[in-house]
Amino acid sequence: MPDLSPSAPFTISLGKARITALCDGVLTVPVANLYRLNSSQPTPEHFPAAPGELSVNAFLVETGTRKIMIDTGSGALFGPDHGKLQAALINLGISPDAISDIILTHIHADHSGGLIADGKPVFKNATLHIGKTEAAFWLSEGADKAAGVTERVRGQIGRAHAAIDPYEAEKRVLLFADDGEIMPGFSASLRAGHTPGHLSIRFSDDENTIVFVGDIVHGDSVQFADPAVTIDFDYDQPNAAVARAAAFAEAADEGYLIAVAHLPFPGIGHIRRDGKAYRFEARRAQ
Ligand SMILES: [Zn+2]
Repeated sequence: MPDLSPSAPFTISLGKARITALCDGVLTVPVANLYRLNSSQPTPEHFPAAPGELSVNAFLVETGTRKIMIDTGSGALFGPDHGKLQAALINLGISPDAISDIILTHIHADHSGGLIADGKPVFKNATLHIGKTEAAFWLSEGADKAAGVTERVRGQIGRAHAAIDPYEAEKRVLLFADDGEIMPGFSASLRAGHTPGHLSIRFSDDENTIVFVGDIVHGDSVQFADPAVTIDFDYDQPNAAVARAAAFAEAADEGYLIAVAHLPFPGIGHIRRDGKAYRFEARRAQ
């Protein structure tokens, strides 16, 4: 059996590129209490199949000339059981200094916290690519004072600045259009709901495609069985469900691989239709 423990990186080939899943940590949390369906209150009794933990996965794409991180894990924000991305990269023989680019699916702390350590950039030579809507929502002047901003969102805005401002200070942040090319081989699709500018990031090489779908789904089976189930972390619950349904339908119809931040590590596989519902078919090692 291949070693799929979180400390072991998981690598597949895609065309001429290599895709590696890296585990930043595993969050122990009763996910049944976080799912929502037709209620703003927890109804864990409705989700007996919910898991008791959430993996935090990030992904490395190695092309012939570049090393691109998709998300960066949580850094120091979730305590000592997290922030393992840097060590996982070094285990792989890759210095964070060798990362040429970072693309964020969105700016929640478990995706952007790993950008910094002790307030300084972890990735000293990388260009940081962020979608325009996502950047505007979290980082624009006065965002924390906008109408309707909750205490939770205010905290998230503070963490977003902590992670991204050090890169901005070095003029290493590039914004890209929500539905456009990011760099050769990479493009974005807006899947708003989980956050206002939440994105899917598509990478293609030699007719092969993988889509990094960020936080379009959490847990393992529950949201595949019913994409209408949302999660407490979704900023806009109805639109998160709409975005999930669209993302699942497209992935099933086009048959591409997806890479997911919070499915059990490594979180790479295919979405298959299962009657009116879906199921996730995890990719095994090559
Ligand atoms: Zn997340």
